[in-house]
Amino acid sequence: MATSDSKTYKVLVIGDASTGKTSLTHRYLTGIFVDSVRLTIGVDFFSKRIKRNNERIKLQIWDFGGEERYRFLLPTYSKGANGALILYDITRQRTVQTIPEYVKIVREAAGDIPILLIGSKIDLEEYREVTRDFGINIAKSNSLSSFVEISSKDNINVDETFDTLIDLIMS
Ligand code: GDP
Ligand code: MG
Repeated sequence: MATSDSKTYKVLVIGDASTGKTSLTHRYLTGIFVDSVRLTIGVDFFSKRIKRNNERIKLQIWDFGGEERYRFLLPTYSKGANGALILYDITRQRTVQTIPEYVKIVREAAGDIPILLIGSKIDLEEYREVTRDFGINIAKSNSLSSFVEISSKDNINVDETFDTLIDLIMS
């Protein structure tokens, strides 16, 4: 009997502290089967089985602590990744400054995998410091695969973010 082996995709969720990585991950996983394991200080590890484009996929989501003191973990844990989400907070301009550094680390560890740039917290429009055009330009200048603005709080573009990344990984 053909029970097709499901592929495993390792997805990194990266960005400065409090950019909304854990909120995004939880929002995406909420209400669906979730294995949650505390792997080590600084990284949370989640796993989810999905079906996409008629293929069964096991997603491994690595939610990194954005704190500077955990950044040393990033190169090692990025190895073998299939895709990455790099978050910044649209209400804090300084959270875009670290993006090139994250891109470099991911590229060195995992090669030319799809990376999506994510501007988070668009429900806080009145506090916006980073324009949408600025985000698009950062994505372009760092040769990232795609750009999307999201709100985990209002559930805007959460599923779409992961669907887009998975489609890019599969293509
Ligand atoms: P992390 O450090 O990147 O994992 O960020 P967290 O997910 O812990 O979120 C940091 C803070 O931002 C928390 O207080 C969250 O409630 C808040 N936050 C996360 N996502 C959103 C969002 O979409 N909208 C708003 N208004 N707040 C958010
Ligand atoms: Mg977190």
